[in-house]
Amino acid sequence: MSERLVVEALWTGAELLRRAALLRSSAGVITAIGAAAPEEAALPGLVCAGFVNAHTHLELSHLRGRVPGGAGSVAWVRGLFAENGPRQAGSSELRAALVEARAAGTVALLDVSNGGHTGAAIAEAGLHGVVLAECIGLSPERFAPALEAAALPTGWPSGVLRRPTAHSPVSCSPALLEVALRAAEGGPWPTIHCDEDPDDRLLLADRQGAWVGLHAALGNPLEALGRAPSGLRLLGALGLLGPRLGLVHLVAADDEDIALLAASGATAVLCPRSNLHIGGRLPPVAALVAAGVPLAIGTDSLASAPDLDLLAEAAALAAAAPGVDPRRWLEALTEGGARLLGPVAPAGLRVGARPALLHLALPPGADPLAALFDGTRWPRRWLSPPAWSAP
Ligand SMILES: [Zn+2]
Repeated sequence: MSERLVVEALWTGAELLRRAALLRSSAGVITAIGAAAPEEAALPGLVCAGFVNAHTHLELSHLRGRVPGGAGSVAWVRGLFAENGPRQAGSSELRAALVEARAAGTVALLDVSNGGHTGAAIAEAGLHGVVLAECIGLSPERFAPALEAAALPTGWPSGVLRRPTAHSPVSCSPALLEVALRAAEGGPWPTIHCDEDPDDRLLLADRQGAWVGLHAALGNPLEALGRAPSGLRLLGALGLLGPRLGLVHLVAADDEDIALLAASGATAVLCPRSNLHIGGRLPPVAALVAAGVPLAIGTDSLASAPDLDLLAEAAALAAAAPGVDPRRWLEALTEGGARLLGPVAPAGLRVGARPALLHLALPPGADPLAALFDGTRWPRRWLSPPAWSAP
């Protein structure tokens, strides 16, 4: 038995089809995608593959609304320290966040974890994911244990993998950046926080700004940091920029950074609501799009974003760059994030695949591209729910 689904709009991951018909086998495998017949009634709204949250910190879920923002990254980090930082994986707040993310249309996540242990909860929620075990430090004594822990076997189901990453050019020695960001062939890609705040540039270029005081308080030797006009240019000088890397935030990226990023093929991972909370400013969204930089979208943690709704993140980007074709946001929400997941990427909406299918209930007859990112929290439901399946 096969099922024929006729919808007003279908996002395939590459193009938007109007009045489309999707044929699925009883096992949920797509067998055909084509045009609906004129007499067929169409489901209002848009159907697409599930969204990929390309940047979260699930282990901060218990800090929702508790870390004040508005004064930049360093002040926010101090506020995080005051709340005692990450909680053990498996907390009730973490599990509730995963339920919330799934209900909002998320099929997969890239989760940055200081403990590296959040994968079991991701798998139990029925989602795909990569746990990015975050290493921080300016000396091997500080970062070696985290690197070793990231290499341990996990015992998680096959839809979730772990790999190491480095926190940021402002908190990691060049040696750590080089070892943690190496992209293994066939594995998930690393992502790294980069140029989140103007203070990042001040530190890396001139050893000035608010990071200096925090490093001093932690006893970190500034001479062990890399030196460059920006984090992005430091990664470029180290030979680490390339198409298999995601750079998170880029709020302080300038035109030269954007040109370097575009030439490298690396993905920009944008978390606009977190940026607005922490520092009150957004990355150069329109310039990144104009330069052709591949995009993915994340929420960041509940310690800096109000919820894990990726549609709200895309709406914030659309509001910041109203001239951008909304297909770019749809691409970033689906294929853009999925690329970063490598072997655990969720199935896309294509013939032969068995994707998790998400329905966004737009009003009948609405222009989906105009409505989808207008800021409305459109109701949504799974037509076929997330479940591990190879792409
Ligand atoms: Zn982050």
